[in-house]
Formats: sequence, structure tokens, C-alpha cells
Amino acid sequence: MQVYFIGAGPGDPELITVKGARLVKEADMIIYTGSLVNPAVLNKVKPDAAVYNSASMTLDEVVAMIVSAVEAGKMVVRLHTGDPSIYGAIKEQMDALDAHGIIYEVVPGVSSFLATAAALKCEYTLPEVTQSVIITRLEGRTPVPEQERLAALASHGCTMCIFLSVHMLDGVISELLRGGYSEDTPIAVVEKASWPEEKIVRGTLATIADKLKNSGVDRTAMIVVGRCLGSNYALSRLYHPEFKHMYRR
Ligand code: SAH
Repeated sequence: MQVYFIGAGPGDPELITVKGARLVKEADMIIYTGSLVNPAVLNKVKPDAAVYNSASMTLDEVVAMIVSAVEAGKMVVRLHTGDPSIYGAIKEQMDALDAHGIIYEVVPGVSSFLATAAALKCEYTLPEVTQSVIITRLEGRTPVPEQERLAALASHGCTMCIFLSVHMLDGVISELLRGGYSEDTPIAVVEKASWPEEKIVRGTLATIADKLKNSGVDRTAMIVVGRCLGSNYALSRLYHPEFKHMYRR
């Protein structure tokens, strides 16, 4: 195998997988998503490895670089932030490599919505509160299908992790309210989860906008909304003393 798409994790360089870290160490060429991948993940690359930031590159340029490296017999790592399957623009790169007959492997990563749960010390799927998590975003340059409008998704009342939208927080809040969340629903914004400069702002749908205004939080942030952030829930059945199962009879 010569090409690997790797999830670099949310920021903390220890949150890349063992496999991902090994492949980064072995690679001849690394193309990383410069805006979000922590450069510390690249500390152990080979001294003669070529390292490129894809921030200023087009899809065609990225693909051309991978193709020529493969032709030269090199091992290539394409490093994406978090997990590449989530807003990673990875499909178009894989399709282009398919067209060139180049095989590749994908190595998953810790997505930022999981690092955010860790930062908030919360459980997204609280018994008798919600058993579902919706990963979504507000529409930006990338359109969102009509039936996935935030208000429509909000009508389920489950936990929602909203990517790529903190700069449009007012729009997020009005859509959530329109969808049926009440003003006292807990919401949190986590900027740069797992980075040393991580910042957490907590509030309700009524208070969060004001709190965020003075916080300096900008783009690399996750919005989490739902009653999983509250303190009312039922204890799990799994660890209940009366609940017997395969491993505890
Ligand atoms: N593939 C990535 C997401 C890329 S889209 C993943 O799995 O996490 C970029 C968006 O992800 C940002 O706008 C922000 O909403 C979120 N994000 C990425 N890293 C983050 C972090 N460390 N803390 C909070 N949000 C983050």
C-alpha cells in the first residue's frame, strides 16, 4: 500500500491512532489540512519527508502530487483533521485515485465531536433523555438538503453536534427554536477541543449568544445542544444490579 488517508484527530497530537502515527512516521510525502491539523502531529516525520499544507491547493493539485509521488515509488499520507469521513472532502480524492488505478487505505481518527464530548465530560446518549446523535451543519457555501434543515432535524429533540457553524450562531439558535427546542435547552460551544487553548462556553438557547460575544470564540468550534447536557436522566440498564446479561448472570 502506498497511499493512506489518515484521521489526525481533533488537535492533541496524542489523539491520533497508533496506526496513524506509525504511518506518518514512515511516509515519504505528507499532505495535511493546514487549517486544522495540529503541526505537532508532524513532529516525528522522516528527516527527508516532503510535507505540504493543502490549504492553498486545489483538488487537482493534491491529486497530481499524490499520483506523481506514487509513480516515483513513494509512500504518501494524506492527513485530515478529526476523522476523514466527516466534512473531510475525502470522497472526491478517493474517486480521483480510483480513476488513476491507485489503491489506498483509510485510517479513521477521533472526530472533533468526540473530543468535544470529552471536553464537556458529557454522555451524548443519556438513558431516557435521548439515544441518538445528529451530526450536522448550517448551510454555508455547501448547500444542505431541504429535509435536513436544522429546524427539521431539531424537531427530534435529540443530541445535536453542529459543525462549521459557530460564526452563524444566531441562525443556529433561531433554527433550533423554530424546530421545537425550548429556550432553556442547554447548549455548549467548545473551541479547539483537546488543544492547549481549548475553550468552553456553556449556556442555554436564551443565553449563549451573549455569552459567546465576549468570549473571542471564532471558527474552529463545535456547537452541542440537547438535554444530554442537563442533569436529569435515568441510570443505565446495563449496570443495573437487577439486569442480568451475557457477562453478568
Ligand atoms: N473531519 C473533522 C471535521 C472537519 S470540518 C472532524 O472529524 O472533526 C471542520 C469543523 O470541525 C470546524 O468548523 C469545527 O466545527 C469542527 N472542529 C474541528 N476540530 C475541532 C476542535 N478541535 N474542537 C472543536 N471543533 C472542531
